[in-house]
Amino acid sequence: MASWGSATPVSPPRAPHLADQVDSSVADRPSSPTSPQRTCVGCRTRAPQSHLLRVVAVRSERGTTAELDHNRPRQGRGAYLHPVMSCLDLAERRRALPRALRVDGAIDIEPLRHQMQELTEVGRDGEEHAMSAQK
Ligand SMILES: [Zn+2]
Repeated sequence: MASWGSATPVSPPRAPHLADQVDSSVADRPSSPTSPQRTCVGCRTRAPQSHLLRVVAVRSERGTTAELDHNRPRQGRGAYLHPVMSCLDLAERRRALPRALRVDGAIDIEPLRHQMQELTEVGRDGEEHAMSAQK
C-alpha cells in the first residue's frame, strides 16, 4: 500500500480553528500581517479592512444619516461593512449601525443603501460598461 501517495504533495485539509491554535507556526496566512482586520457590522465576520466599506455617521439639521466614507477618513467613528446588500440588511435588522457609530436614536441608512446599490451595480455591470466603451 501507499504506492501512490509519495508523488502527491497535497497537504491535508486544515480546520480554521485548528490553524488558530498552532498560531506560532504561521506560514500559510493568506493576508499580510500588516493589513488590519475589521469586523463587518452586518454578518460579524472579520475581514481585511480593504475588503470592507467604511460607514460614517453624518449629522445634519434633518437628523443623522449613514453614508459611505469615500477615501478620506472623516472625524468620528467608522463602521465596517461588506459591499453587499445582505450585510446592510443584517446590520439594519440588528440596529448595529447606530451602535457601532455611537449615534443616539435613529439613523437614516437610506443614503448608505443608495450608495451601496450604486456600488454593487457598478461591480455587476462592469463588463457591460467596458463593452459599450469599446464600440
Ligand atoms: Zn458582512
